[in-house]
Amino acid sequence: MRFDLLTIFPEIFDSYIGESIIKRAIKDHKLEIVVHDIRKYTKDKHQKVDAPPYGGGAGMLMMAQPIYDCVQAVKKLNKGPVIYMSPKGKMLTQNYGQTLAKKYQKSGLILLCGRYEGIDQRAIDLCVDFEISIGKYVLTGGELPAMVLLDTISRLIPGILGDDYSSEEETFSKVLDGKKEYPHYTRPEEFMGLKVPEVLISGHHANIKKWRKDQLK
Ligand code: SAM
Repeated sequence: MRFDLLTIFPEIFDSYIGESIIKRAIKDHKLEIVVHDIRKYTKDKHQKVDAPPYGGGAGMLMMAQPIYDCVQAVKKLNKGPVIYMSPKGKMLTQNYGQTLAKKYQKSGLILLCGRYEGIDQRAIDLCVDFEISIGKYVLTGGELPAMVLLDTISRLIPGILGDDYSSEEETFSKVLDGKKEYPHYTRPEEFMGLKVPEVLISGHHANIKKWRKDQLK
């Protein structure tokens, strides 16, 4: 699946996409992540991408022109929808992530990251297909939300996690009826006086299954 990330701080993504599962998925050509610097598209003679809001008020806004030109260029490479990461958007949930992973795995997604007080409404009206929020709080920029969305979707694509099933039976997943997952234990059998529940070392699969089901919240 292809993700194009549009930002004025491209380096923010370096460490995240250069590590672990995402790094391996890129190497295996299961994921393609291209980061675009919106600043490169500005026609402002001082290379500015922000300006004060009309009507006054605190802070700066990202101007429409660099975003518009950047989106037009990226749309030639990625046929998926343009998502603006915004606290005003539709809330990201595991269920919504599953829907997006299924629907856009082939086309890909274009994720637009805002900064400052946000972006000029005309950039949204002209370029954005829909908005997604990662929670009811306001962050400094859209880069963390874009990474959260990318991570949520990527691990749901078959073959990206080592074991395809490990993203199925998880907290909030359909398989667990949207409930919170049961507790996990690994070696040793006793740690600081706390023992692994007997049933998990019994080897009795039906009982283990029942115990895990009973633990769902
Ligand atoms: N003035 C905006 C408001 O009140 O809705 C907040 C702007 S915020 C400081 C700057 C950028 O961070 C936004 O343009 C958006 O891209 C991103 N952002 C902040 N919180 C977010 C959230 N909860 N979900 C997704 N994106 C978020």
